[in-house]
Amino acid sequence: MLKTDTEIYTITSAILPYQELVDQVWEKNLCSGCRGCIAVCLAGTLEYDQKAGRPYQMNPCVECKACLDVCPRLSANAEKIATQNLLGDYLEIKNARSMTGGAHFQNGGAVTALLSAALEEELVDCALVMGLDRWTQEPYPRVVYEAKDLGKCAGSKYTSNAILESMKDLVKDQSIKNIAMVGTACTVQTVSLLCRSQNEYAAKLAQKVRFLLGLFCFEAFDDCLIAEISRRIDAPTWNISKISAGEGQMNIILRDRSTRSIPLPDLASFVLPGCKACTDFTATQSDISIGGVGSAPGMSSVIVRTERGLGLFRIAEEMGFLEAWDGVNGEAIERLCRLKMKRIKAPE
Ligand SMILES: Cc1cc2nc3c(=O)[nH]c(=O)nc-3n(C[C@H](O)[C@H](O)[C@H](O)COP(=O)(O)OP(=O)(O)OC[C@H]3O[C@@H](n4cnc5c(N)ncnc54)[C@H](O)[C@@H]3O)c2cc1C
Ligand code: SF4
Ligand code: SF4
Ligand code: SF4
Repeated sequence: MLKTDTEIYTITSAILPYQELVDQVWEKNLCSGCRGCIAVCLAGTLEYDQKAGRPYQMNPCVECKACLDVCPRLSANAEKIATQNLLGDYLEIKNARSMTGGAHFQNGGAVTALLSAALEEELVDCALVMGLDRWTQEPYPRVVYEAKDLGKCAGSKYTSNAILESMKDLVKDQSIKNIAMVGTACTVQTVSLLCRSQNEYAAKLAQKVRFLLGLFCFEAFDDCLIAEISRRIDAPTWNISKISAGEGQMNIILRDRSTRSIPLPDLASFVLPGCKACTDFTATQSDISIGGVGSAPGMSSVIVRTERGLGLFRIAEEMGFLEAWDGVNGEAIERLCRLKMKRIKAPE
């Protein structure tokens, strides 16, 4: 007897676990592009489709279900990482800045300072950060082994969440036992779920992450943003020194230090669809979260959340990489948390 479409569909879903991602995440435009499902897939089933802004099936699935454990956009997983208060749990909130200068710091260079301490003190074997091709402004995940190379990777990359793509290679390398990694809130959520997974391969990945640094994040943009910025300000990509979003504007600093601004609403069509469903502004699942809002220009707001994070923070201070003060404007941070919650789009 011929099967109905619904029956065929149900059978397909039963055979291929990742179909749940297709139905519940990809087709509802909820995918954050964090690549967690790709990183955890030992069979190499999934690859990322840059244009669609989500993964797709490339190779056969071995039905291990690891991808279902780590996707922060599946409602069962979202419940596991939900927090009661806006800023999430924390031990300390500080204004901080790097004590070493850096041309590319986004705010106070606190992230670079923390990672430098971790590498210099050999608390980790490497740091997983986002590099940038300064000719094209294209970001790429980069593994850094020496503190001196971190400065080159400083600064926010608004067009990529691909950092977890490098995890697969790192896990194969037996010499790498401990990693410090940086990610936007969605990436941090995924790593946090990775740590809770019972899947053997997921556990292998999770075990290597010693420090998880989360960036505050209101939204990210697709790849076409850079070409659009370059067109609007009539400057080639190599002439862009820094891009920074804030106060309703995308601010672009050129190599001669002159500044151009584009109103953020003009760039709204470049915002990744999954960001419109994102509720976590401050990366609540990190060891330490870092952002610009809440602090004066040239400083970072640092939310230390875990004992592990506190240890790294103290070591960075003691080693003279970081200086810190009280006085973060928590209300300003909470305001953005609320704003982010407010704009959640109903699933399409
Ligand atoms: C997409 C995006 C949106 C953001 N939105 C806000 C916001 O609305 N409000 C706010 O206060 N802060 C926001 N931030 C965080 C802010 O821009 C700074 O990254 C943060 O304050 C740290 O600054 P810093 O000077 O301490 O870091 P730096 O010392 O400059 O170091 C930044 C580190 O982050 C890494 N990195 C940069 N981009 C990425 C990325 N996409 N994924 C993984 N690692 C990355 C770099 O490689 C570097 O190691 C956003 C960041 C991103 C990437
Ligand atoms: S992680 Fe496992 S279930 Fe998910 S796509 Fe890969 S092989 Fe299939
Ligand atoms: S949100 Fe992340 S884990 Fe979930 S489907 Fe998208 S890329 Fe995969
Ligand atoms: S808003 Fe930021 S944290 Fe949320 S999905 Fe987009 S990139 Fe990820």
